Amino acid sequence: MDEVLEQLKDGVRRFQAEVYPQRAEMFEQIANEQQRPQTLFISCADSRVNPNEITSSGPGDVFVTRNIGNMVPAYGEMLGGVSAVIEFAVSSLGVKHIVVCGHSDCGAMKALLQPESVAKMPTVTSWLKNAHAALTVAETLHERDIENRSDRPLLEVLTEQNVLLQMQHLKTHPSVAGAMAVSELTISGWIYDIGKGRVLVAEDGERSFTPIEPLKATADEAPLRV
Ligand SMILES: [Zn+2]
Repeated sequence: MDEVLEQLKDGVRRFQAEVYPQRAEMFEQIANEQQRPQTLFISCADSRVNPNEITSSGPGDVFVTRNIGNMVPAYGEMLGGVSAVIEFAVSSLGVKHIVVCGHSDCGAMKALLQPESVAKMPTVTSWLKNAHAALTVAETLHERDIENRSDRPLLEVLTEQNVLLQMQHLKTHPSVAGAMAVSELTISGWIYDIGKGRVLVAEDGERSFTPIEPLKATADEAPLRV
């Protein structure tokens, strides 16, 4: 018996028994409508990153593409899955916002710092070239202690610089450039801290990341003072 497949089937059974019945009406409704997601979310394929969970979104809300290191090859570099997703999301679905989301403890970022760890994986090695400029920028900022970057682990600086680089690459795609030119599309870069549940955001044009402020407790939710 294939244990992993059985675990997956159990998961489907739980979905069918517990999740679907509670929201059957919504599922039936969206099944008969054209999808209209407002956001394209580009994240790492890392199994610990769950775009729907961290944005509290559900079916139909977010168009998602994931790959190793949340990368966006510059237009023309590698015409493939990522470029096609971007073009479709912007030109056909008309998404209003694109997020490039990096995360803590990213294996792709670690591999950039230790290329020998992926030496036997030629496809991965080639894919990581999409972030080489970020590696140079991160190393330079870290070495020269620009904006106190040397106080922080190089991995953290690289993770941020990779997101900023991929945002630049995004703008080389004609569909993105066109929609941004007429203010129909905005983009942002995110860093998701898996262990802390924290999300930092750099809006377009910003060079540093700012934490999203927590929900403020309303009067009803405020703790009782006795
Ligand atoms: Zn990753």
